[in-house]
Amino acid sequence: IEQAAFQNDKLAMLGKISAAIAHEIRNPLTSIRGFIQLLNPYLSEIGKQEYGRIILSEIDRANDIIYEFLNSSKPSAPMMQKVSVDMLLRETALLSESEAHMKGCEICYENFAPELAVAVDVKQIKQVLLNLMKNALDAIQDVIGERKGRIAISARQEGKFAIISIADNGKGMERATLNRLFDPFFTTKEAGTGLGLSVSYRIIANHGGTIRVDSQIREGTECKIYLPCVE
Ligand code: ADP
Repeated sequence: IEQAAFQNDKLAMLGKISAAIAHEIRNPLTSIRGFIQLLNPYLSEIGKQEYGRIILSEIDRANDIIYEFLNSSKPSAPMMQKVSVDMLLRETALLSESEAHMKGCEICYENFAPELAVAVDVKQIKQVLLNLMKNALDAIQDVIGERKGRIAISARQEGKFAIISIADNGKGMERATLNRLFDPFFTTKEAGTGLGLSVSYRIIANHGGTIRVDSQIREGTECKIYLPCVE
């Protein structure tokens, strides 16, 4: 429990820092955008106009990324809504289907408690589920030559909790990785942000739940989300 409290402090801090950084970056982006727009009529040659267009669209893209990031990391109060776990998981499987297909990976879904319902912020929980699916697909990507990828999604009830499990047969993790999994900005990927699991952990903690991860190096990983269930 102490470990979890410490984790929450760190994540709350991350939320504050990232909101501040995002704010500091958005302001100059907005003014650069304005000045380039003003310059555009003076850029007579076609080539330069094209450059101007690219610069504007790249600024917009950077702004979108910051917006997304800000949305996912700010400690907003969840908008609670009662939903069936079955619906959440079906949609998660569906949304990951095309990427899984490209990697020759099969997604299996089994629900041992079809009536299970939770009170959650649907947008936030979907974000968590998709983060976990993306990690599973990345882990499978790394062993793609060795075996056929498989992700098993399942749900069951244990006392007052709904347990959602996402298990992959990807590359697994070493102890050292497992220990730092929820640290903000911890990543082993070349283009990773290291934010997926720290943000996910905080979202689930805000819902009164937790995330547990088991992993065997070269065998695979199972992530279990615990959420309080409702009648
Ligand atoms: P990112 O995906 O950007 O690296 P995450 O916070 O989602 O950030 O994950 C942190 C690290 O945890 C990953 O870089 C990876 O090393 C490890 N990891 C997470 N999920 C898995 C998984 N299913 N299998 C193997 N490693 C994983």
